[in-house]
Amino acid sequence: MTAVMWFRRDLRIEDNPALLTASQTGPVVPLVILDPGLLGARARPRDAAFLTAVAALDAALGGRLVVRSGDPAVVVPEICAEVRAAAVHVSVETTPYGARRDRRVASLLSDRGIAWRATGSPYAVGPGLVRTRGGTPFAVFTPFARAWREHGAPGPAPAPARLDVVDGLGNDPLPAPGPLPGSTPVTEDAARQAWAHFLGDDLASYARLRDRPDQGGTSRLSTALKLGTIHPRTLLHDLAENGLTGSPGGERFITELAWREFYADVLWHNPRSAWHDLRPALAAMPYADPTNDSLAAERFSAWQQGRTGFPFVDAGMRQLLTEGWMHNRVRMVAASFLVKDLHIWWPHGARHFLDHLTDGDVASNSHGWQWVAGTGTDAAPYFRIFNPVAQGLKFDPEGAYVRRYVPELAHLPGASAHEPGTAANGYAGGYPPPIVDHAAERADALARYAAARRPA
Ligand code: FAD
Repeated sequence: MTAVMWFRRDLRIEDNPALLTASQTGPVVPLVILDPGLLGARARPRDAAFLTAVAALDAALGGRLVVRSGDPAVVVPEICAEVRAAAVHVSVETTPYGARRDRRVASLLSDRGIAWRATGSPYAVGPGLVRTRGGTPFAVFTPFARAWREHGAPGPAPAPARLDVVDGLGNDPLPAPGPLPGSTPVTEDAARQAWAHFLGDDLASYARLRDRPDQGGTSRLSTALKLGTIHPRTLLHDLAENGLTGSPGGERFITELAWREFYADVLWHNPRSAWHDLRPALAAMPYADPTNDSLAAERFSAWQQGRTGFPFVDAGMRQLLTEGWMHNRVRMVAASFLVKDLHIWWPHGARHFLDHLTDGDVASNSHGWQWVAGTGTDAAPYFRIFNPVAQGLKFDPEGAYVRRYVPELAHLPGASAHEPGTAANGYAGGYPPPIVDHAAERADALARYAAARRPA
């Protein structure tokens, strides 16, 4: 019986349980849908990354990947009728949009007597599976991470022994991906190479250097994990195989993967938290609104363009625009600056990040933002406010990261690149002065916080 394998966030051949299961039932029609509900009208870096990975998957399948454009609720039943498929295989999707879409498609298929077979997910442990002893979801990271480790992940799926791919089906044209910013690994081959390099080279110093954007010692696998060109199960397995699980770098890396799994779990249980405060405690916070307040709009735009006059923030925002990626430490500082120095509600910033990141992922992005904003899982209380200059001095002590992305500060040596206001020629390169006074905005943020918390 012919089966359709519908690839979504699992654009790989290796360690792909859904593909393996489909291959064991007979001939397979590998399908990718260009869904206008997911691919933006604008040429977003995330779309470029997706299309690049799809083109590589097509090449790996000998040019036999079927690519169709349109609403999956139309396309999937259509292709099933065309090839007389008995089943559609997928890996489980747990984002609000993906889960809703899948329920709709599965029900349409069921009306036609076609089976819906979901095997595996983009996570080592599927969202919803890790629970407290009482059976409730975890609200806090550390106990989740402990239970997630105890739960354990299955080993990698073997490659299909035989993949009988159906030939000669019609295709909608695959749009040219458009240039991909930066050098983030995207395709299955590139992701595996980057991972091998990271294991052999950077993992040893990862625990020490992962917070240093000037050093570039992180794996840069977030885009590949987002697209599923590599699976976290593979990463956990390789760490164990190489005896690295208990090493400082290995432990730290596993913890970071656990954050990704935690946020997916939180989103699965709270779909509204994609674009709304997870906890209502700050619902009354008086934010500045860039959609109807011209000063807030002006400041929001300066932040988006990397022209706030705070070098560490601006370097990050420009890295985002030029590379479609930003180092985690700088994501935290740039996000904190928007929420606590400019007093703008986090979804405005989260939307900008999603539009520009190649790894843009609603679970990690929105909950990363909420962690900073103090509205999410409880690790970062609102009153912890990053000082953007002190953060720069601490995590980019030689100023190298700032000079790399902010050419107007390239003439300032060492750490002085973080404080152009203290150098006689600090603004000679045309760099803007600070748009706000951090100490004053910090006090303002705390006053807004107190007002939001005061019982009415
Ligand atoms: P590494 O340090 O090599 O970590 C390995 C992997 O662990 C990453 O690829 C990622 O999958 C996961 N990971 C690491 N840190 C986190 C974290 N804090 N939360 C969740 N997963 C993590 N990550 C995304 O993948 N997509 C996003 O859209 C995204 N938006 C973010 C927005 C904000 C405001 C913040 C503070 C963080 C965001 N992150 C996001 C998390 C983190 O910044 C990136 O995953 C990380 O910078 C990717 O670089 P890397 O692959 O080199 O990470």
